[in-house]
Amino acid sequence: MRPIYLDCHATTPMDKRVLEAMMPFFTDYFGNASSVAHIYGWEAEAGIKKAREIIARAINAKENEIVFTSGATEADNLAIKGVAEAYFDKGKHIITVATEHKAVIEPCEYLMDLGFEVSFLPVNKNGLLDLDLLRQTIRDDTILVSVMAANNEIGVLQPLADIGQICHDRGVIFHTDAAQAIGKIPLDVQAMNIDLMSLTAHKIYGPKGIGALYIRRRNPRVKIASQIQGGGQENKIRSGTLCTPNIVGFGSAVEIAMNSMEKENQKQKKMRDYLWENISQLDGIILNGDLEKRLSGNLNISVEGVDGAALLLALQPTVAVSSGSACTSESTKPSHVLTALGHPKSLAQASLRFGIGRFNTDEEMEKVTEATLKAIRSLRKSH
Ligand SMILES: *Cc1c(COP(=O)(O)O)cnc(C)c1O
Repeated sequence: MRPIYLDCHATTPMDKRVLEAMMPFFTDYFGNASSVAHIYGWEAEAGIKKAREIIARAINAKENEIVFTSGATEADNLAIKGVAEAYFDKGKHIITVATEHKAVIEPCEYLMDLGFEVSFLPVNKNGLLDLDLLRQTIRDDTILVSVMAANNEIGVLQPLADIGQICHDRGVIFHTDAAQAIGKIPLDVQAMNIDLMSLTAHKIYGPKGIGALYIRRRNPRVKIASQIQGGGQENKIRSGTLCTPNIVGFGSAVEIAMNSMEKENQKQKKMRDYLWENISQLDGIILNGDLEKRLSGNLNISVEGVDGAALLLALQPTVAVSSGSACTSESTKPSHVLTALGHPKSLAQASLRFGIGRFNTDEEMEKVTEATLKAIRSLRKSH
């Protein structure tokens, strides 16, 4: 038997309903959506149109504001490099946050090499951005603010509406990486003043290799320099034949997630709280990230007095989790996210990220709790 899967921030299993929706688009409706001269093209285009509508509706956007990409990594790159290239004559200053995904941080560092200036804002102890600091950091030559919706390691939810308002007031474009947020928390690009939003399907039980960038077209119309040129698909912003089955699967995954959001959040929060309440009965367990402003399915803890690699090894037969940080015998460095939280105690220790998802059960939480308590106790004893 394989271990219990609790790594849903890395990826999720595909929902069978999503697979079912995709299947006909591999074989029957195989046409190229750009073929406008015959029914094969129209069938593919119809499937894509439906998915586009679902995704746009889920974030209160318009269909023509959704550009399909290969995932959130590409969407982040397109947003950041696309804005930098389109607005560099207006300014060369970009603001982001130390706890962002590498798909945001690396493009920003790449732009620094090209002469852009990037402010990486620190976060508070609970992982949240200080809004006053953001206000103070915006300058006349700031062209972009990029702050993620939900963190992939510690699950904290940044105050998107407040950030959007600040950016809107100063006329700065606001991009958010919502890879971990779509289908899990309500997102509204109008109410939250979001100009660009990165999405992906495989964190919400959809296929890997498909995502999207939302690009605001009105108030203001955001310019994005294309990063992939060719056949001119997606309003010439992202060329390449669209992957119809993946796009249909993405739409199906978003639809299911939107319909079951509340119910799943309740269920996952209950399981998460059960894990936390039981594991935190031990001494020396530190919660990483705010407990309230957090994804329902996320728990990230640091464990004092044990070796990170040894802890993962002890848990491996029972549960598939990932480690955020581990100052271990193998000298793995703590993650940049935990480093940014800045409490030295959690840094020097092993850490675990539990990512609970749609298909986990209460019974599994009991087994995971038991295994985790046992592993920590026995590793501490052998010290
Ligand atoms: C998973 C993830 C990404 C990368 O998405 P891909 O679709 O795998 O490229 C980017 N940002 C965040 C916050 C993520 O969780």
